[in-house]
Amino acid sequence: MKIYNTLSRQKEEFTTLEPGRVRMYVCGPTVYNLIHVGNARPMIFFDTVRRYLEYKGYDVNYVSNFTDVDDKIIRRALEEGVDSAVISERYIEECKKDMAGMDVRPATTNPKATEEIGGMIEMIQALIEKGFAYEVNGTVYYRVRNFKRYGMLSGKNLEDLVSGNRTLLVTGEDEKEYPMDFVLWKPKKEGEPYWESPWGQGRPGWHIECSVMSKKYLGEQIDIHGGGEDLIFPHHENEIAQSEAVSGKPFSRYWMHNGFLNINNQKMSKSLNNFVLVRDIAKKYDLGVLRFFMLSAHYRNPLNFSEELMASAKNGLDRIETALARLRDEAEKCPEEGAAEPVLEAAAKFRADFEAAMDDDFNTADAISVLFELVKFANMQEPGETPRAAWDELRKTALDIAQVLGVKEPAQELLDKDIETLIEERQAARKAKNYARADEIRNSLAAQGILLEDTREGVKWKRA
Ligand code: AMP
Ligand code: ZN
Repeated sequence: MKIYNTLSRQKEEFTTLEPGRVRMYVCGPTVYNLIHVGNARPMIFFDTVRRYLEYKGYDVNYVSNFTDVDDKIIRRALEEGVDSAVISERYIEECKKDMAGMDVRPATTNPKATEEIGGMIEMIQALIEKGFAYEVNGTVYYRVRNFKRYGMLSGKNLEDLVSGNRTLLVTGEDEKEYPMDFVLWKPKKEGEPYWESPWGQGRPGWHIECSVMSKKYLGEQIDIHGGGEDLIFPHHENEIAQSEAVSGKPFSRYWMHNGFLNINNQKMSKSLNNFVLVRDIAKKYDLGVLRFFMLSAHYRNPLNFSEELMASAKNGLDRIETALARLRDEAEKCPEEGAAEPVLEAAAKFRADFEAAMDDDFNTADAISVLFELVKFANMQEPGETPRAAWDELRKTALDIAQVLGVKEPAQELLDKDIETLIEERQAARKAKNYARADEIRNSLAAQGILLEDTREGVKWKRA
């Protein structure tokens, strides 16, 4: 399996620190608003990376943070006249709802910056002790000139950065030793959340949180670190500088960055005010369509968001779902005997093609094409003429691929005879005074839109 590593700017064979295990960290959102479709891209893509690594048999420890202390959160809290924790808690909950809608699985751990301040203070102290940081008037800065590899990820060098940023010293940070030094800890301002520290009351800078959380939950060295390409510099460059200065070891083996989600060929972002909320998409589409749309392009390419592309993603997804339902519902018609070989061979070829696409730096666009090919092939097979074993293998291949991409088999419609069998079972349970089971059946039917009514003539049912 090959992964494009931003560090080396090439595809590299993927190997892990520990056999069979992957330690993976993805920078999560700053929670001051509902997430937009641009934020959804790394969530959906890295969830798919995780799923594929699991498909390959790895045990994946997936950590993704919530940045819940930040200027934008504080500004919003001031606007609403509430504590900043009210804002961050609200948008963490809303973000989780959107993630569930997009079928993005919860991370193994979802740490919050505000719950990790102690670890951040410790790491800042370690940096000061090693000469990589210094304090001036309650602010602690990272001393980038002491970290010889600064710029290794972004390919920037300090001199160019400084000459390209002449304004840096004019922004009130003239106490810095060097213009590119960045903040690790800043003193509190009136009305802002703060924590006690050896440098006075204040709060951490943004970059230190990810170094601390990845170290705490994954260890000093990790396999994959991910995020959008806007994070390469300065955020990820600074994470490397912090983590490696403390540990003396390479921090992450692979750095993966998704390209931008654009709208009218401009990056979708809050500041450009050209964003579409995931919540708004959900009014019109199942969010599975958004997921499918996102995976229809290679993750490193820019992807333009448009109404037409969403509509075409919906059509494509419908076609796949219909085929998955048919593979399930027609299976019973298959004979036990017959020549299974041609279909089994085709299924194996689809699986191999899917794996080849995903092994090539997670080419989900090609993986989706393979799924379409499979669907086309499956639709040509007649259940009456296909032996059951072959049909089942084709179905399993389709489901395995679908599962990695986050495409779901449609829910099965309950047939009248199944409903009646369940109602009889419920009556029997009631007779046996097993009310728990009786309620369970009623509730599960209700969840599928089947309503029961107990009448004098017996139980009547209808579809809601
Ligand atoms: P933020 O909340 O701005 O810190 O962003 C959270 C994540 O979303 C980061 O990994 C960003 O790189 C990513 N992101 C934000 N906007 C876009 C976009 N338009 N396209 C792709 N990724 C984005
Ligand atoms: Zn981060």
